[in-house]
Amino acid sequence: MNFQQEPPALGNQYEDDRVLRSYLARVLRADVLRDVEDSLREMGRLAGAELYELQLADRLNEPKLTQWDAWGNRIDKIELTPLWRLAERIAAEHGVVATAYEQTLGSLSRVHQCALAYLFTPSTDIYSCPLAMTDGAARTLLSSGNEALIDRAVPHLTTRDANEFWTAGQWMTELTGGSDVGLTETIAKHDADGFRLYGRKWFTSAVSSQIALTLARPEGNPPGGRGLALFYVETRDEHGRPRNIEINRLKDKLGTRKVPTAELTLTGTPAQLVQGTTDGVRNITPLLNITRLWNGISSVALMRRGLALAIDYAGKRVAFGAPLSEKPLHLDTLANVQAEAEAAFHFAFYVAELTGRSETREITEDESLLLRLLTPVMKLTTGKQAVMVASEVLESFGGAGYVEDTGLPVLLRDSQVLPIWEGTTNVLALDTLRALRGSDSLRQLELMVTHCLDSVRDSRLADPVRVVRSSLDHATSWLTEAERRGQPALEAGARRFSLTLGRLAELALLTKHAQWSIDHEQDRRATTSARRFASAGIDLIVDHDADELS
Ligand SMILES: Cc1cc2nc3c(=O)[nH]c(=O)nc-3n(C[C@H](O)[C@H](O)[C@H](O)COP(=O)(O)OP(=O)(O)OC[C@H]3O[C@@H](n4cnc5c(N)ncnc54)[C@H](O)[C@@H]3O)c2cc1C
Repeated sequence: MNFQQEPPALGNQYEDDRVLRSYLARVLRADVLRDVEDSLREMGRLAGAELYELQLADRLNEPKLTQWDAWGNRIDKIELTPLWRLAERIAAEHGVVATAYEQTLGSLSRVHQCALAYLFTPSTDIYSCPLAMTDGAARTLLSSGNEALIDRAVPHLTTRDANEFWTAGQWMTELTGGSDVGLTETIAKHDADGFRLYGRKWFTSAVSSQIALTLARPEGNPPGGRGLALFYVETRDEHGRPRNIEINRLKDKLGTRKVPTAELTLTGTPAQLVQGTTDGVRNITPLLNITRLWNGISSVALMRRGLALAIDYAGKRVAFGAPLSEKPLHLDTLANVQAEAEAAFHFAFYVAELTGRSETREITEDESLLLRLLTPVMKLTTGKQAVMVASEVLESFGGAGYVEDTGLPVLLRDSQVLPIWEGTTNVLALDTLRALRGSDSLRQLELMVTHCLDSVRDSRLADPVRVVRSSLDHATSWLTEAERRGQPALEAGARRFSLTLGRLAELALLTKHAQWSIDHEQDRRATTSARRFASAGIDLIVDHDADELS
């Protein structure tokens, strides 16, 4: 009757992460890694200590909306929880956005920043959401060439001074749809003072942000995406009151419950054009590319957190006379999860590398095509993996994984948003087809994969190499055949095709890293993961007949 189960615990999340450390040792010069390691070690310490403790203590707190004050004034005040208030300060001071803009490491600053975000994210209950949009807004404003807005907002979005730090929202989704934003109903009216927005925004996360980028149709513009313009909004006046914005309610969501996701009515909200009076959907693309990168990094970060807890617990939980860490089947189960997470990690960080090269304008034209293709593919592939991994992690705790005050179920609930926002799996699969249309990007993926596999010599990696090649051949031939059969066949198979591209890219990158790790670290663990991942379903293409659909 005296048995007491020891709970899972976290150590320094940088020091304990073999995959992250091995990857950084490959892509950063040793002296550069030494320079940035203090920042990563400190973030890893915070994530495993203060932030994690506060995350558990803050579990039941949620953001609060107060619409009216005692005297009947509409105030629409949002109060964040203690964890989020601390997360905001730490994010600013540790440069979780700023690092990418300071560019101390040139193009690899993006990798450094993503490593910070990866460590920070799992202990801060999706504070990554406002940071992703902040980062995306800074990139979008910089790309817009609008010097007045750049001078006004970018220094706040990219500062390390917590008192000066602004976050940004992204208001696209309306009742008419989040995928088909061309249906946007919000109108922009012009008067002597400039533009004012009228409409309803149906999902606006991090509504506590100081600014937002949003889409609206200037009066007289044609319907569809082309007729929309991209606008910049400062959400509150100098007294902290919303500027003609009513917060109708906060959404009651499955997960991401620390994120204040609101429904808004814009009642003449002052707004400034970011870039021209049309083509808003095209002009907001830089923001989406960055938030999709963050989505991938968050996916691998949550997978890693689940694994860190599950591995620790396996050493503490005894069943049938021995810790779970000595049970072959439990180990086999966790090793499969590890392989999935490890493959996803290399994909997300590879897209970070390409993004960094594009930001410093070192990227070649061919690499730009590859980045255009891989951003949606990476986001859709890792989002799906995150949900699957979180589910398996919960099961690895038995009943405890299903009980709220262990702090475990939130991993699954929060992961479930990753395939939905920033483009659902299907919407991104169709975007993948658009990226391929009339472009050389599939050829660029073939070259990237060939380059990865060229360095592989170890005989234990022969299977992964074979699986990558055969999956790519199948994907290429499927595409040719589906194009011949027409649009319905292409669309119907787009998800299986895109996931196959994603998983084979992951396997190629993991296999390349595994060879490097054998050569430079005499470590075969990445090889083990590559072999497992190779047999975990890479080629998902099946040739169903689109005519069967009704
Ligand atoms: C927690 C949370 C926070 C959010 N925060 C924000 C935010 O801050 N700002 C913002 O703008 N939005 C936000 N969103 C909205 C989110 O981006 C949208 O929900 C998402 O893009 C999907 O749009 P929808 O809900 O209108 O679904 P729909 O577009 O109606 O899609 C429904 C289903 O149809 C599928 N589908 C759609 N078109 C096609 C097609 N052509 N072919 C095949 N399948 C298709 C989709 O994949 C999906 O499965 C948030 C959502 C959530 C859950």
